[in-house]
Amino acid sequence: MIPSVLPTYSRLPLSFVSGEGSWLVEADGRRFLDMGAGIAVNALGHAAPELVEVLTAQAKKLWHVSNLYTIPEQERLAAKLVELTFADTVFFTNSGTEAAELAIKMARKYHYAKDAPREQIIAMQGAFHGRSTGAIAMAGGDKMVKGFGPLMPGFEHLPFGDIEAMKAAISQDTAAVIVEPIQGEGGIRVLPDAFLRELRALCDAAGALLIFDEVQCGMGRTGRLFAHEYAGVAPDIMMSAKGIGGGFPLGAVLAREDAAAGMTAGTHGSTYGGNPLGCAIGAAVVDIVSDPAFLVEINRKAGLLRQGLEGLVASHPDVFESVRGTGLMIGLKCRVAPADVVAAAQAEELLTVPAADNVVRLLPALNIPDGDIAEAVARLDRAAGALAGDTAASA
Ligand SMILES: *Cc1c(COP(=O)(O)O)cnc(C)c1O
Repeated sequence: MIPSVLPTYSRLPLSFVSGEGSWLVEADGRRFLDMGAGIAVNALGHAAPELVEVLTAQAKKLWHVSNLYTIPEQERLAAKLVELTFADTVFFTNSGTEAAELAIKMARKYHYAKDAPREQIIAMQGAFHGRSTGAIAMAGGDKMVKGFGPLMPGFEHLPFGDIEAMKAAISQDTAAVIVEPIQGEGGIRVLPDAFLRELRALCDAAGALLIFDEVQCGMGRTGRLFAHEYAGVAPDIMMSAKGIGGGFPLGAVLAREDAAAGMTAGTHGSTYGGNPLGCAIGAAVVDIVSDPAFLVEINRKAGLLRQGLEGLVASHPDVFESVRGTGLMIGLKCRVAPADVVAAAQAEELLTVPAADNVVRLLPALNIPDGDIAEAVARLDRAAGALAGDTAASA
């Protein structure tokens, strides 16, 4: 008999009943150190007091009114994002997937509005942009698209980080190129700064728009407010979600004025997108995370974690191959199955997240205390020791 919850997820047998900071409490009372943060969502940890306060205050005032009306909380958050980024304008969604949908529509409409329609959108192999029909067609990959055809046409998928393939593919027919500056689901694969700069130049030369999907790597995760800032290039359109809501469902599409020119009244909408509750919380997250002192702290903490993990790679060479990523978006490339590492960590009451390319992800709360970082490294050390023991025993 089919479970009452549609069985689309392979879930671990853990149910958490409460959380505080980087810790989650299981129904049986065990306390887990959470280095996944809801897959880069709980940017300020669980039940962050600053966010609980904003949420509670807003919940007592107003939750939802619909976009039939001007929403001051939405305008306030948009103004902050415009001030802090390349963008001139923002549309709010409830998720990253919805942001992907608008990014596709906006890019095609831009060219249509210029009386020169273009369809082709170029994406990277190994990408993840969400699970809607548009987002799976855009990211490609058998695992996500198989059985769901016919897929939306117009997408091309190039080998990750291959600038020569990009040069060959991009043309006057290209509406846009979309990349994650750091692939998350794809295994914490960082696009080099030089690639992003060349890609910007190629898009400019072809009149194509450049879209960055910063749903996972954005909002302070890398130690800059957005990951692309490291390369010194800006996109025309950018997707945000996950961390921006700190655990409340919130997403956004940021765009330059010119790129957004096709999106006039009536061309797009969302019932819940930009509701007062979500935007009030988003504004609090953005205020905290964009503070330069907070970003400096992320980098310092990232240095601590990185150092500890490099030590683990050195002491468990049979389990770990290397550490990669930027800031607190870290991938541990494994020599064993990532699922085994996740399970061994779980036995030590440490939560990690698997990804493609034999990688285990560490995406802790951006404000994780130094003591919790040390504790995470210690638990991962024990987990790796247990795994290495298994390996030796079975050899
Ligand atoms: C998670 C993710 C998405 C999809 O976001 P949802 O909120 O799950 O719809 C899109 N792009 C990237 C890079 C992501 O990591």
